[in-house]
Amino acid sequence: MNKDTLYRYLFENADVRGELVQLADAYQSVVNAHEYPQVLRRFLGELMAATSLLTATLKFSGDIAVQVQGNGPVSLAVINGNNHQQLRGVARWDGELADDASLGDLFGQGYIVITLTPDEGERYQGVVALDKPTLAECIQDYFQQSEQLPTGIWLFADGERAAGIFLQVLPSEEDHNAEYEHLTTLTATIKQEELLQLPAEEVLHRLYHEEEVRLFDPVEVSFKCTCSRERSAAAIRSIEKAEILEIMAEQGQIEMGCEYCNSQYRFDSIDIEALYANGSLTDSGTAKQ
Ligand SMILES: [Zn+2]
Repeated sequence: MNKDTLYRYLFENADVRGELVQLADAYQSVVNAHEYPQVLRRFLGELMAATSLLTATLKFSGDIAVQVQGNGPVSLAVINGNNHQQLRGVARWDGELADDASLGDLFGQGYIVITLTPDEGERYQGVVALDKPTLAECIQDYFQQSEQLPTGIWLFADGERAAGIFLQVLPSEEDHNAEYEHLTTLTATIKQEELLQLPAEEVLHRLYHEEEVRLFDPVEVSFKCTCSRERSAAAIRSIEKAEILEIMAEQGQIEMGCEYCNSQYRFDSIDIEALYANGSLTDSGTAKQ
């Protein structure tokens, strides 16, 4: 079975497109970075699948951030990605989370902020309320609002694997709503264990064996963190020098940790001096992965 793969497909007899993503290793890399409660592990899986599906609809190269915020015990869950299907993510929470906690239990009054940052051109930001029972329905709302095309989203995660399906009517002069409704009914028969366990081709065959489906070449999805020693150095330089010297005096070094991948970047007094003297780093520092 192909792990961490995104498939795009098209229904030949209806102006409807689809995407299917299955995540395993990339998902594990995100959720194993912290001791997440099970319910949050699953939520991050759904969020990651949703971000991958969303990223695959982008018509530009650039970055995407799908951020869920609220005033509940989970204050933040975010997945960042780019058009190469490289994803990373993190969540912050407080206290114990019940395994059957609802979205409302987790986030309280929550909302989703979706930020699209093209390499060239203007940044776009969309906000939708987290006011439906499932993340899939909330993300569906986002698509309806931003693209005004009938869109269906199905998301599943069990803590070990995550997966999702996306269906959308293509912009067209003709009315394809009847075909879309039919395809939605077929897609909605998918069961969590099927989408998480079976090879994508078999899932598509089970769902759409009476339809003509054109399947495009699969795309690999991967976990990739964008942190680096240079970026950490730039962050240090953005802090007041007096404050940095105070930390140096207390701790003898500055330690910057990446919450996405747990890399630690350490800067000793020689590094710090070099940073302020030349604006760049010497090679004496050590980065532990
Ligand atoms: Zn990192």
